[in-house]
Amino acid sequence: MREATAEGRFLFVANQACLDFVNTEVMRHGQPADLLEGFGSLAAWLAESGLVPAEDAMEAARRWEGSGKGRHVHAKALELRGRLRAMAEALARGEPVPSSSVEAINEALRWTLGPMEVAAAEDGFELRQRTELQEPEQLLGPIAEQAAELLCGTERALVRRCENPGCILYFLDTSRNRSRRWCSMEACGNRAKVAAHYRRQRDRRG
Ligand SMILES: [Zn+2]
Repeated sequence: MREATAEGRFLFVANQACLDFVNTEVMRHGQPADLLEGFGSLAAWLAESGLVPAEDAMEAARRWEGSGKGRHVHAKALELRGRLRAMAEALARGEPVPSSSVEAINEALRWTLGPMEVAAAEDGFELRQRTELQEPEQLLGPIAEQAAELLCGTERALVRRCENPGCILYFLDTSRNRSRRWCSMEACGNRAKVAAHYRRQRDRRG
Protein backbone atom coordinates (compact mmCIF):
# COMPACT_ATOMS: atom_id res chain seq x y z
CA MET A 1 0.00 0.00 0.00
CA ARG A 2 1.33 3.40 -0.94
CA GLU A 3 0.83 6.07 1.68
CA ALA A 4 1.43 9.09 -0.51
CA THR A 5 3.32 10.10 -3.59
CA ALA A 6 6.91 11.29 -3.56
CA GLU A 7 5.60 14.84 -3.58
CA GLY A 8 3.03 13.90 -0.96
CA ARG A 9 0.35 15.32 -3.22
CA PHE A 10 -2.17 12.48 -3.23
CA LEU A 11 -3.11 9.85 -0.66
CA PHE A 12 -3.45 6.19 -1.56
CA VAL A 13 -4.63 4.70 1.72
CA ALA A 14 -8.05 3.29 0.79
CA ASN A 15 -7.17 -0.08 -0.81
CA GLN A 16 -9.71 0.83 -3.47
CA ALA A 17 -9.23 3.32 -6.30
CA CYS A 18 -12.74 4.78 -6.20
CA LEU A 19 -12.36 5.58 -2.49
CA ASP A 20 -8.88 6.99 -3.14
CA PHE A 21 -10.57 9.26 -5.68
CA VAL A 22 -13.07 10.40 -3.01
CA ASN A 23 -10.05 11.00 -0.77
CA THR A 24 -8.71 13.70 -3.10
CA GLU A 25 -10.81 15.95 -0.88
CA VAL A 26 -9.10 16.21 2.50
CA MET A 27 -9.11 18.21 5.72
CA ARG A 28 -6.05 20.35 6.35
CA HIS A 29 -5.78 22.35 9.56
CA GLY A 30 -9.51 21.91 10.03
CA GLN A 31 -10.37 23.24 6.58
CA PRO A 32 -11.52 21.24 3.54
CA ALA A 33 -8.87 21.21 0.81
CA ASP A 34 -9.24 19.97 -2.77
CA LEU A 35 -6.25 18.16 -4.23
CA LEU A 36 -7.83 18.16 -7.71
CA GLU A 37 -7.27 21.80 -8.53
CA GLY A 38 -7.69 21.48 -12.28
CA PHE A 39 -7.63 19.15 -15.25
CA GLY A 40 -3.85 18.72 -14.91
CA SER A 41 -4.11 17.40 -11.36
CA LEU A 42 -6.96 15.10 -12.41
CA ALA A 43 -4.68 13.63 -15.09
CA ALA A 44 -1.83 13.36 -12.56
CA TRP A 45 -4.08 11.53 -10.09
CA LEU A 46 -5.24 9.08 -12.77
CA ALA A 47 -1.62 8.34 -13.66
CA GLU A 48 -0.52 7.90 -10.03
CA SER A 49 -3.50 5.70 -9.19
CA GLY A 50 -2.63 3.49 -12.14
CA LEU A 51 -6.14 3.81 -13.62
CA VAL A 52 -4.72 5.41 -16.78
CA PRO A 53 -1.30 4.58 -18.24
CA ALA A 54 1.04 7.43 -17.23
CA GLU A 55 2.02 8.39 -20.77
CA ASP A 56 -1.64 8.61 -21.85
CA ALA A 57 -2.53 10.71 -18.81
CA MET A 58 0.35 13.09 -19.54
CA GLU A 59 -0.73 13.30 -23.18
CA ALA A 60 -4.27 14.13 -22.03
CA ALA A 61 -2.90 16.89 -19.79
CA ARG A 62 -0.93 18.34 -22.71
CA ARG A 63 -3.98 18.31 -24.96
CA TRP A 64 -6.71 19.57 -22.65
CA GLU A 65 -5.23 21.37 -19.63
CA GLY A 66 -6.37 24.98 -19.71
CA SER A 67 -8.93 24.35 -22.48
CA GLY A 68 -12.70 24.68 -22.23
CA LYS A 69 -13.07 20.92 -22.65
CA GLY A 70 -10.55 20.31 -19.90
CA ARG A 71 -12.38 22.66 -17.52
CA HIS A 72 -15.68 20.98 -18.36
CA VAL A 73 -14.35 17.49 -17.61
CA HIS A 74 -12.65 18.69 -14.42
CA ALA A 75 -16.02 20.03 -13.25
CA LYS A 76 -17.68 16.73 -14.19
CA ALA A 77 -15.02 14.82 -12.26
CA LEU A 78 -15.70 16.89 -9.12
CA GLU A 79 -19.43 16.29 -9.52
CA LEU A 80 -18.86 12.55 -9.89
CA ARG A 81 -16.61 12.62 -6.83
CA GLY A 82 -19.38 14.25 -4.80
CA ARG A 83 -21.76 11.45 -5.83
CA LEU A 84 -19.17 8.83 -4.95
CA ARG A 85 -18.66 10.45 -1.55
CA ALA A 86 -22.39 10.14 -0.91
CA MET A 87 -22.16 6.48 -1.96
CA ALA A 88 -19.19 5.84 0.35
CA GLU A 89 -20.98 7.55 3.24
CA ALA A 90 -24.09 5.41 2.71
CA LEU A 91 -22.06 2.19 2.46
CA ALA A 92 -20.06 3.04 5.60
CA ARG A 93 -23.29 3.64 7.53
CA GLY A 94 -25.05 0.61 6.07
CA GLU A 95 -27.69 2.84 4.53
CA PRO A 96 -29.21 2.66 1.04
CA VAL A 97 -27.01 4.15 -1.68
CA PRO A 98 -28.63 7.29 -3.17
CA SER A 99 -30.01 6.75 -6.67
CA SER A 100 -28.22 9.94 -7.75
CA SER A 101 -24.92 8.17 -7.05
CA VAL A 102 -25.92 5.19 -9.17
CA GLU A 103 -27.05 7.52 -11.97
CA ALA A 104 -23.72 9.38 -11.89
CA ILE A 105 -21.80 6.08 -12.09
CA ASN A 106 -23.94 4.88 -15.00
CA GLU A 107 -23.46 8.15 -16.83
CA ALA A 108 -19.68 7.93 -16.53
CA LEU A 109 -19.67 4.20 -17.38
CA ARG A 110 -20.55 5.17 -20.95
CA TRP A 111 -16.96 6.33 -21.28
CA THR A 112 -14.00 4.01 -21.65
CA LEU A 113 -10.35 4.63 -22.38
CA GLY A 114 -10.56 2.50 -25.50
CA PRO A 115 -11.45 -0.91 -26.90
CA MET A 116 -10.46 -4.22 -25.34
CA GLU A 117 -8.00 -6.30 -27.32
CA VAL A 118 -6.28 -9.66 -27.17
CA ALA A 119 -2.52 -9.37 -27.34
CA ALA A 120 0.33 -11.87 -27.31
CA ALA A 121 1.82 -12.27 -23.85
CA GLU A 122 4.75 -14.18 -22.42
CA ASP A 123 2.93 -17.48 -22.04
CA GLY A 124 -0.03 -17.16 -24.39
CA PHE A 125 -2.40 -14.23 -24.69
CA GLU A 126 -3.83 -11.55 -22.46
CA LEU A 127 -6.96 -9.43 -22.61
CA ARG A 128 -6.09 -5.77 -22.21
CA GLN A 129 -7.49 -2.34 -22.84
CA ARG A 130 -6.08 -0.09 -25.48
CA THR A 131 -6.09 3.63 -24.72
CA GLU A 132 -7.48 5.73 -27.56
CA LEU A 133 -8.34 9.16 -26.22
CA GLN A 134 -10.56 11.23 -28.45
CA GLU A 135 -12.43 13.11 -25.74
CA PRO A 136 -11.30 14.03 -22.20
CA GLU A 137 -14.56 12.57 -20.83
CA GLN A 138 -13.10 9.12 -21.48
CA LEU A 139 -10.87 9.65 -18.42
CA LEU A 140 -13.94 9.37 -16.17
CA GLY A 141 -14.65 5.83 -17.38
CA PRO A 142 -12.06 3.99 -15.27
CA ILE A 143 -13.19 5.83 -12.12
CA ALA A 144 -16.79 4.77 -12.78
CA GLU A 145 -15.65 1.19 -13.39
CA GLN A 146 -13.94 1.13 -9.99
CA ALA A 147 -17.05 2.55 -8.35
CA ALA A 148 -19.25 -0.04 -10.08
CA GLU A 149 -16.95 -2.84 -9.00
CA LEU A 150 -17.12 -1.64 -5.40
CA LEU A 151 -20.88 -1.22 -5.44
CA CYS A 152 -21.63 -4.58 -7.08
CA GLY A 153 -19.15 -6.69 -5.09
CA THR A 154 -19.09 -8.05 -1.56
CA GLU A 155 -16.41 -5.55 -0.53
CA ARG A 156 -19.09 -2.87 -0.32
CA ALA A 157 -19.65 -4.07 3.26
CA LEU A 158 -16.05 -3.17 4.14
CA VAL A 159 -16.26 0.57 3.43
CA ARG A 160 -15.35 2.61 6.52
CA ARG A 161 -14.93 6.24 7.36
CA CYS A 162 -11.89 7.22 9.41
CA GLU A 163 -12.92 7.38 13.07
CA ASN A 164 -11.23 10.72 13.62
CA PRO A 165 -14.27 13.07 13.61
CA GLY A 166 -12.12 15.78 12.01
CA CYS A 167 -11.14 13.52 9.11
CA ILE A 168 -13.22 12.86 5.99
CA LEU A 169 -11.25 9.98 4.44
CA TYR A 170 -12.73 6.60 3.48
CA PHE A 171 -11.09 3.22 3.12
CA LEU A 172 -11.80 -0.45 2.62
CA ASP A 173 -11.17 -2.40 5.81
CA THR A 174 -9.31 -5.41 4.44
CA SER A 175 -7.55 -6.13 7.75
CA ARG A 176 -7.85 -9.78 8.77
CA ASN A 177 -10.02 -9.19 11.84
CA ARG A 178 -11.84 -6.18 10.34
CA SER A 179 -10.44 -3.84 12.95
CA ARG A 180 -8.98 -0.98 10.93
CA ARG A 181 -10.19 2.31 12.35
CA TRP A 182 -8.03 5.00 10.81
CA CYS A 183 -7.18 6.31 7.34
CA SER A 184 -3.59 5.89 8.46
CA MET A 185 -1.92 5.26 11.79
CA GLU A 186 0.46 8.17 11.21
CA ALA A 187 -2.21 10.75 10.40
CA CYS A 188 -5.14 9.92 12.67
CA GLY A 189 -4.33 6.78 14.67
CA ASN A 190 -1.47 8.25 16.63
CA ARG A 191 -3.34 11.46 17.29
CA ALA A 192 -6.19 9.49 18.83
CA LYS A 193 -3.79 7.38 20.87
CA VAL A 194 -2.04 10.45 22.25
CA ALA A 195 -5.37 12.09 23.10
CA ALA A 196 -6.51 8.93 24.92
CA HIS A 197 -3.19 8.81 26.80
CA TYR A 198 -3.60 12.37 28.08
CA ARG A 199 -7.21 11.69 28.96
CA ARG A 200 -6.16 8.71 31.08
CA GLN A 201 -3.43 10.75 32.79
CA ARG A 202 -5.88 13.53 33.55
CA ASP A 203 -8.44 11.02 34.91
CA ARG A 204 -5.80 9.47 37.16
CA ARG A 205 -4.83 12.88 38.53
CA GLY A 206 -8.46 13.98 38.91
ZN1 LIG B 1 -8.17 9.97 9.17
